[in-house]
Amino acid sequence: MVSKKHWAPTANVEVGEVRQSETGAWVVSGRLAPNGTCPECGTPSRQRHGWRCRRIEDFPAQGQAVWIELRVCRWRCLNSDCRRRTFSDREAAVATPYARRTSRQAQLLGHVAHAAGGTPAERLLRRLGIRVSDDTILRQLLRAAQVVPPRARIIGIDDWSWRKSQNYGTIIIDLERRAVIDVLEDRDVVTCTDWLRRHPEVEVISRDRCGLYAQAARKGAPQAEQVADRFHIVQNLRMAIEEQMNLHGRATGRALLSDADNISTASNLLKSRLAHRKSREEIYETIRALRQQGLTCSEIGRRTGFPRRSVAKWLQFETPPDRKRAVLKRSSAWYFEEYLKQRWENGIRSGNALLPLIQERGYEVSVRPDRPAAW
Ligand SMILES: [Zn+2]
Repeated sequence: MVSKKHWAPTANVEVGEVRQSETGAWVVSGRLAPNGTCPECGTPSRQRHGWRCRRIEDFPAQGQAVWIELRVCRWRCLNSDCRRRTFSDREAAVATPYARRTSRQAQLLGHVAHAAGGTPAERLLRRLGIRVSDDTILRQLLRAAQVVPPRARIIGIDDWSWRKSQNYGTIIIDLERRAVIDVLEDRDVVTCTDWLRRHPEVEVISRDRCGLYAQAARKGAPQAEQVADRFHIVQNLRMAIEEQMNLHGRATGRALLSDADNISTASNLLKSRLAHRKSREEIYETIRALRQQGLTCSEIGRRTGFPRRSVAKWLQFETPPDRKRAVLKRSSAWYFEEYLKQRWENGIRSGNALLPLIQERGYEVSVRPDRPAAW
C-alpha cells in the first residue's frame, strides 16, 4: 500500500491528505516544517504571521496529473535586533519561486526535451500524463541551459567607455557564447592581470593591438594564446588598400580616363596594329625569298616554324594577307562603331543613353540586356 509520505515531492513536505478531484487528478495537501528559521539571523520561530497556498504540479500517478497544494507559512522573527520582521518558508527544494511545477518535474521535462525536442516531447509527455505545451518545454530547456555556470575558454578583451573621451573601462566577452562576462572599472594592466589570474581556464584571448592588454595577458594568462581580433585585422586590410590606391592614383579604371588619355590609348592600338602588319610583311618576304631559292613548302616550314599548309597558302598571295575581321552582326556593338563614334563626339558618353539609340537602329540584345561593352 502506498503511504502518504510517498506522495511528498521532497522529504521536507509533510502530506496531510490525498484526494481525487472531479476531473480525476490527484490533489495532495502538504505543508512544510512546523517552524521556520530566519534567513537573516538564524533564530527559529514558531509564531506564524500568516500563510498562503501554493499549487504546483508534480509527477503523474496512475495516468492522472498530481497537484500539490502546499501550505507556505510566513513566520515572525523573534530576534528584536534583526532587521527582518517576518520571513517565509523555504520551499526552494520543492519548486523554484513562481514555478508552476515541482523542481523534479521540471528536471524531467528538460531531459525529455533534450532527447526528443519540443513537439515530440509534448506528445510523449501527454501519454505519460503530463500536459505541457512544446513552448513550455523549450523554455524549460533554455532555462536549464542558462543555469550551467559559464567557463569562458575564448574571450575578447577591449576597452569600453563609461563616458566617451573621458573615462574608459575594460569589457570582457565570452566569444563562444557571445555574452559579456565582466566589466572592469578601468583599463589598467594590474586590474586586467588580476582578472586573468582569477580565470585560469582562459585559453585564447582576442585583443586589440594596444600593448596594454598584451602585457596583461602575458602576465595574467601566460597559458593563453593571444590573437588579433577581426575588427583590427579588417581595419589593417582597409588601410593597406587605401594606401595602395593612393600610391596608384589612376588605378580606378578606364571610365575615369581623360580625353587625352583616351587618344593616347587609341594611338597605341594603332601602333600595335601597324607593327603587326609590318611583321606579317616580313614573314611574307622571308617565305617568298626561301621559295625563290627552290625550297619546298615543308623545308620552308621547318626553317620558319610555320605549318606547311600555311606556307603554301601564303605563297598563293601576291601581297601579304591582311588580318580579316569576322563578319559583324547586329548583335555586336562594333556593328554600330561609326554611329557610336559620332554620338560620342557629340557628347553622349553614357552607355545607358547610347543603348536605346543603337537599339532603334536594329541592335539585337542577345540573352542578357547590357550596355555596349566597348562603349
Ligand atoms: Zn531574524
